[in-house]
Amino acid sequence: MTGANRGLGLETARGLAGQGWTVILTARDDAKATAAAKAISREGAGRVEVRRLDVADEGSIASVARSLRDAGTKVDVLVNNAGITMDGFDLEVARRTIDTNFYGPVRLTEAMLASIPDGGTIVMVSSGAGELSILSKELRARFSDPRLTQRGLLDLVEGFVDAVRRGRHSQDGWPTSAYGVSKAALNAYVRITAPRLAARSIRINAVCPGWVRTDMGGPGAPRTVRQGAESILWAALLEDGETGGFFRDGKPIPW
Ligand code: NAP
Repeated sequence: MTGANRGLGLETARGLAGQGWTVILTARDDAKATAAAKAISREGAGRVEVRRLDVADEGSIASVARSLRDAGTKVDVLVNNAGITMDGFDLEVARRTIDTNFYGPVRLTEAMLASIPDGGTIVMVSSGAGELSILSKELRARFSDPRLTQRGLLDLVEGFVDAVRRGRHSQDGWPTSAYGVSKAALNAYVRITAPRLAARSIRINAVCPGWVRTDMGGPGAPRTVRQGAESILWAALLEDGETGGFFRDGKPIPW
């Protein structure tokens, strides 16, 4: 569970622990992770272990993946929840948002595959803000092309960052939302990766929690954190073979 020290991550960790799961609660700050784990443990729920993990840091991802692999820990469910929205729009915002919201979950997923047993589950916490409709017709076609490979997707994403660098993102068909592009790309990764993982019966799905009253969603959002976390828990605890989809409240939503 990434970004589990507050917001939807903390609530999802609480929900999993409450159902008796052993939760590996990760956060980029040790003290925050420990405080969150203590809060859950005080409620008398299941076991919570803590790891420091900054999803924007490749070294941090490699180190957590290595320590879990070396310990022989099996990760039945991986929830990629950590995410950011940043004020403004420039190259720095585009780079950091893509690194955290797209490369973070993609790198962690690839690094964790050795620890996820056959039949395991991966959840990407995405957003309706990443619907393909935010892209130009041409980019939409490229993102949804069934022949799109992982390499091709990474090239598309780098094309966005490069277009921002050149001040040409609008002319090239990209929205002025690095957050939206990061989540559209995350969804595309789910579609591309599901068939590859199906060989090991590993499910991978994207979920949108809806607009939720967290630090990110703000106080005006209509959903409680509990309501938002329900969508994530649903995908984390899926028992049928649903994979490669995008869901909110347990129902498919448009890409
Ligand atoms: P939040 O309250 O702002 O919490 C974000 C969490 O992500 C925090 O724990 C934060 O840790 C962590 N994080 C950020 N960058 C990180 C990094 N590099 N490495 C590790 N952890 C990092 O946001 P939220 O509303 O719970 O959002 C959780 C997920 O839901 C995100 O992926 C978001 O895009 C998605 N989502 C939210 C909404 C909504 O309305 N809230 C709607 C759609 C989708 P720190 O405390 O260290 O910053």
